Parts: sequence; C-alpha cells; structure tokens
Amino acid sequence: MSESTPTTGPWPDAVFRLPAWVAEVAGPVGGVFPTATDRMALAVALARRNAAEGGGPFGAAVFTADEGRLVAPGMNLVLPAGTSIAHAEVVALTVAQQAVGAHDMDDGAGTRFELVTSAAPCIQCFGAVIWSGVTRLVCGARKEDVEAIGFDEGPVPADWVEQLESRGIAVQRDVLRDEAAAVLRDYAASGAPIYNARRGGSD
Ligand SMILES: [Zn+2]
Repeated sequence: MSESTPTTGPWPDAVFRLPAWVAEVAGPVGGVFPTATDRMALAVALARRNAAEGGGPFGAAVFTADEGRLVAPGMNLVLPAGTSIAHAEVVALTVAQQAVGAHDMDDGAGTRFELVTSAAPCIQCFGAVIWSGVTRLVCGARKEDVEAIGFDEGPVPADWVEQLESRGIAVQRDVLRDEAAAVLRDYAASGAPIYNARRGGSD
C-alpha cells in the first residue's frame, strides 16, 4: 500500500494497470449502479470494450453491495499484463482491495461488497472469490457459454454455488446472460485468439 515501497532487488513489481479507456466505460469512481442489471451492464460493457481493444472478452466490477457504488472495474488483462492470473474477476478484486485498503473486504465494519462478472468464475476465480471477502457474486454468462467458444473454466466443482453460499457469499446467476454470452460469441466469430485453449482456462 505504501507509495514509496522500493522494488526488491532484481525482481519486477507485479501490478495490474487498468487500460486508459476504462473511464470512458466505467465513469467516475463511486458512480452509482442501483440494480443488479445496471451493474451487470457495466461488466458486459467492459467485456465488450476489452475485446474490441484486443483483450479477452471478459469484464467484472466490484460494487458496494447495498448502494451499488463502483469500487473497481476489471477486465481480462492476461495478454497485456503477461500473466495467466489476470482474469477480470482477479483484476477487479485486486484493484478493489487496494482501493478499500484491505485484503479481506469483509472487515465487519458494515460495508459489504459484491463482485459482478460477465461470466461465471473459472476454478481460479472461484477460489479468489472465496478469499476476497465479497459477500455477493453476480454472474452473466454461464460456464457452458464460456466453454462453447473454447475457453476452459477448469475443474469448478459442480456444487460451486452451494460452496459459495455455505461460506456466506450469495450467488445470483443469469443476469443479462444473453448479452454476456453474445460478447463471447462475437469474440469467437471475429477470429480472435482463444488463448490458453490447451484446456488451461481463462476468463
Ligand atoms: Zn477466472
């Protein structure tokens, strides 16, 4: 968190830098998105713009769960960031945790946070959601929609929704599913790369 933390010897810093266009899509920090549909519309718009800019067709955002204030947008940055973990959900959670100043956003202080993602989480992001402290997950496209174009979600447990809910994370699915799936189909139809298609997963 310290702005003056020096780099450690020869090792590179590892950070996510959001693309310059993000403000055009997401608007200002703290913008209010009252409903689940409003919030998903942003995640889908981020996915579509990211794909148009040469990135993966996946978007996500963290909001305060009650008011719907935007805490952090995210998009798939696997290719520009050069790291396999830079899925939209992980990017949004990482930026949100930096913004909130807590690695666990369920700090008991009363503000609850929600992750909204244009596609259901892969195995990595399923885990990341559990550790993040969000208390609600909202998904657009389903696993089947993602895998229909060749991306892999990995060995997500069949009871992943129940697993999250048993840990206090409410799950809502199929919000703007058609719109979110259309981004995936359009991406595939454009001939853009299905990277990690060795059944390695990427959303
Ligand atoms: Zn993922």
